[in-house]
Amino acid sequence: MLKLENVSKVYKGGKKAVNNLSLEINKGEFVCFIGPSGCGKTTTMKMINRLIEPSEGKILIDGENILDQDPVELRRKIGYVIQQIGLFPHMTIQENISLVPKLLKWPEEKRRDRAEKLLKLVDMGSEYLNRHPYELSGGQQQRIGVLRALAAEPPLILMDEPFGALDPITRDSLQEEFKKLQQRLDKTIVFVTHDMDEAIKLADRIVILKAGEIVQVGTPDEILRNPANDFVEEFIGKERLIQTRPEVEKVNQIMSKTPVTITEDKSLSDAIQMMKNHRVDSLLVVDNDGVLKGYIDVEMVDTNRKSAKTITEIMQQPQYTVNEQTQISDAVRRILKRGVKYVAVVDDEQKLVGIVTRSSLVDIVYDSIWGEEEALVADKV
Ligand code: ADP
Ligand code: MG
Repeated sequence: MLKLENVSKVYKGGKKAVNNLSLEINKGEFVCFIGPSGCGKTTTMKMINRLIEPSEGKILIDGENILDQDPVELRRKIGYVIQQIGLFPHMTIQENISLVPKLLKWPEEKRRDRAEKLLKLVDMGSEYLNRHPYELSGGQQQRIGVLRALAAEPPLILMDEPFGALDPITRDSLQEEFKKLQQRLDKTIVFVTHDMDEAIKLADRIVILKAGEIVQVGTPDEILRNPANDFVEEFIGKERLIQTRPEVEKVNQIMSKTPVTITEDKSLSDAIQMMKNHRVDSLLVVDNDGVLKGYIDVEMVDTNRKSAKTITEIMQQPQYTVNEQTQISDAVRRILKRGVKYVAVVDDEQKLVGIVTRSSLVDIVYDSIWGEEEALVADKV
């Protein structure tokens, strides 16, 4: 959808801000540009919406050279969110959100409806429509900045350090909210940040820039695992790197082959005894052929202690499972995403062959990778 071909920008005075940059961005993709201050991030963004003309190279949107398009028309098709929010203080929230729709001559009623609908997306009611920016908190203003960029349904949105000025807690919640929004609306996003945590959290692909040039392009996972050079490694921060243990990749290398199990026909008191003996708070339930049927934990048993229910009646369906050849990084993601303590490892016939627990992953992954854990668990509750 968006293609940069050997794009360079030399500012007056000979400063080469962007040097021979080539990159292709797919429709619906969330790409983060990251790099130290002055590496050319803003310059690149501004070339995409023609606030700045490239000195060399071509930029294509859906195969069409943007230099062949009317710049004003072009900009209306591209949402743009900047760090300073850029809301107009004398305009109401509705007017601020509806700037582009107004330029596109949407009728008043349609503009209002659209603004109202957008506010809903970020859990703000229509009572905000007639307020002014100064009546809103920083986080709310930034939401409006994002909504304004979405107002005319542009397929492409450029965001230049949009959350940079927010306090960490507001930033965190806006990031979550925005990521969900993006997945729902299926927009192509180019997002500039200098915060690696933000890039890892949001991006499908990260583009690392240094002195106007691309140093590395890859998924967050690829970049964390295989930083291209010392610069990237430094930039990521050593503590964030997944410990490089190339010999450990697949689930079967770290799983425990002796998960504590119970068969379906046993009683609840058998289950309690089993948990006690093995000092675990959860059991995997299997049938007589060893096929995974579900799991029970101590709370489920406790709740049903007084009733005469069987294990089959109170157990939960198997949670997400992995197989022996699953990449460890996938297993990690599943455990983190679900906020669960372990994943069961099964074979092609759903037979239980092992278990990967959080603690078996700790050796493999540095603590900071688990940073998301708390947020995800909190989210679930
Ligand atoms: P970033 O957004 O990554 O911090 P910029 O794209 O703003 O970087 O700037 C890249 C380089 O170009 C910097 O060295 C900056 O000083 C220089 N630069 C930016 N804008 C101009 C300008 N209008 N005239 C001259 N040099 C500029
Ligand atoms: Mg910048």
